[in-house]
Amino acid sequence: MAASKPRAVVSGGAGFIGSHLCESLLDRGCRVLALDNFITGSADNLKALRSNPDFEFRRMDINHGIFIGGDVRYALHFASPASPPQYDSNPIHTLKVGTVGTMNMLGLARAKNATFLLASTSEVYGDPLVHPQPESYWGNVNPIGPRGCYDEAKRCAEAFAMAYQRTHQVDTRIVRIFNTHGPRMQVSDGRAVPNFMAQAIRGEPLTVYGDGSQTRSLCFVSDLVRGILAALDKGDELPVNLGNPEEVTVLELAQTIIRLAGSKSRIEHRDLPVDDPKQRRPDIAHAKELLGWQPEVGLEDGLGRTLEYFRSVV
Ligand code: UDP
Repeated sequence: MAASKPRAVVSGGAGFIGSHLCESLLDRGCRVLALDNFITGSADNLKALRSNPDFEFRRMDINHGIFIGGDVRYALHFASPASPPQYDSNPIHTLKVGTVGTMNMLGLARAKNATFLLASTSEVYGDPLVHPQPESYWGNVNPIGPRGCYDEAKRCAEAFAMAYQRTHQVDTRIVRIFNTHGPRMQVSDGRAVPNFMAQAIRGEPLTVYGDGSQTRSLCFVSDLVRGILAALDKGDELPVNLGNPEEVTVLELAQTIIRLAGSKSRIEHRDLPVDDPKQRRPDIAHAKELLGWQPEVGLEDGLGRTLEYFRSVV
């Protein structure tokens, strides 16, 4: 490994977004050390990177402490279950990785004089009463509901990042990631895009929760990763929304996926999960101004690319 190349440590590096991030960091000339405990990540996601001499992987639980020799230029914290069914079935781990795990990654950044970046989430806005959501909105989160373990852990993670920046002058970034999709999402992940795509490909009914009038705004993963790298290069310590403002209802999303897949599947309504946000759309004015970033992949184009991947794995 060329020692002159800056080294990035990516927690959750075997996850959906983490693995794409590792790839882009290698492409821009970094050495990359990916950390993952495989609770929701997968070794398959890193297959293509394993032969790269600048890539290294360690299976570890960052909640138990992070001990890494050598230099580190970037510490990027992407470890966490991220889909509602996954964090609902791992609530304590989700709380730990957002709190203790964040503290440990910040400790690493501090010890190595590295830039820290937190993968935060639109879930910090909860079921938002302000629409679209700007970074200045403080959110509407139920701390004791089923999403509380994820939402509050990420809110605590943001507080940790600000505290390390203010107390120890660690160079920190916070990106609030809105719904993202793309290749390497797990078929069993439980979120709308993987569920609908797998169901459409199999010819099974698409399970729309509630009447499907709730909205989401979906970003393709390549746009998101470009935004993350822009935040690393040009961001400051304050949170910045990263997402695609093209908003659709969940029912429209299901219908679009059926059409793109050329599927004969029907739509079947199921109960709406507790505390399911009714609307979500990022205000990306800050990202545009600060980072010169905005998404380039339109909804149907992105869904088409993700569908291609799901056809290869379902
Ligand atoms: N959803 C759905 N059917 C599914 C999975 C999800 O109708 O099989 C809905 C879910 O209730 C929510 C939206 O799709 O309103 C997005 O859910 P997802 O789990 O993808 O992410 P969230 O934005 O809720 O974290």
